[in-house]
Amino acid sequence: MNLPSPRPQIAAIPAYVPGARGTADRQPPIKLSSNESPYPPLPSVSEAIAQAGHAAHRYPDMFAVELHERIGEGLGLAPGSVAVGGGSVAALQHVLQAYTGPGDEVMYAWRSFEAYPIITAVTGATPVAVPLTADARHDLAAMAAAITSVTKVILLCSPNNPTGPGILVDEFEAFMAEVPEHVLVVLDEAYIEFATDPAVVDGRQALDTHPNLLIARTFSKAYGLAGLRVGYVAGAPELIAPVRACVTPFSVSAPAQAAAIASLDARDELLERVAEVVAERANLVAGLEELGWHVPDAQGNFVWLAAGEATDELVRALGELEPAVLVRGFSGEGMRITVGSRAENEALVRAVNEATSRA
Ligand SMILES: *Cc1c(COP(=O)(O)O)cnc(C)c1O
Repeated sequence: MNLPSPRPQIAAIPAYVPGARGTADRQPPIKLSSNESPYPPLPSVSEAIAQAGHAAHRYPDMFAVELHERIGEGLGLAPGSVAVGGGSVAALQHVLQAYTGPGDEVMYAWRSFEAYPIITAVTGATPVAVPLTADARHDLAAMAAAITSVTKVILLCSPNNPTGPGILVDEFEAFMAEVPEHVLVVLDEAYIEFATDPAVVDGRQALDTHPNLLIARTFSKAYGLAGLRVGYVAGAPELIAPVRACVTPFSVSAPAQAAAIASLDARDELLERVAEVVAERANLVAGLEELGWHVPDAQGNFVWLAAGEATDELVRALGELEPAVLVRGFSGEGMRITVGSRAENEALVRAVNEATSRA
């Protein structure tokens, strides 16, 4: 048989492997593997979702007009400066679809967000992955040096998933001074609400002085709406218009639009939860450091343990506990642990202690 063949870059994307499913005879796991919020939606947000559900036979607002306006207002930008998508990962993919194709290079740090190589492959552009520094930070000098005549987009992740450090404003400015204006820089700030170091660059501010910059933000993490899929990119309207052109029609559902708007209404309450996660992050880091781990600067809602060759064994041991403790392992490198509730974090520290003393 001679079946249709996909583009080679697509064929090379690793097939999706579903995570372990719980079984009936096991307790629900402690899930610290996806950087989700430990809090369920606020009552006001649940109510908005339920209300939108009553009109599920209708298409959502195709242009998500109110949501664009509300996000723009919150950022102090015109509504034309925002493009929402089904999660910021979709919005980022639309950026690459709008700006890159075969023959172009898309640069990012590595290790960073796992979606970057995938969304790059989808556009057919060539990925250029620049290793992080020894302390798990973006190596912006090396990234600037790696710019070529075909570099089209540079993705920066601050705070960096999965390692934790944010990009500092001074190093960001020095980097931008090296980047030609025709190269698009996208600052992925999925975790920016959790960043507490005032020296971490604020993408919103940086938009005012860098015309070739976009920022990407999401309702999935600090706003706790990972299950509804809504995120956005923002920047100059001329840069955003081509991104909007690539958005799949109706990709942000009506309940997602309603929940995002209700979350913006409840921003202060949600930011109190963020402050609690940040406080718990300090406890988690302290607990792990007491066990002798060095934790890189954690500016997101997760911490990184560079377990190296021991990673797989450790992840497996945690998964075998009762209840299972699920973390995100990167074979041979380390594991990313989401900051959970106080009880979950304490269980995690005990579990890591137990798993390492057994190993
Ligand atoms: C979680 C995450 C996103 C976006 O997630 P969505 O759920 O698609 O909005 C984007 N970038 C990074 C680095 C992330 O970790």
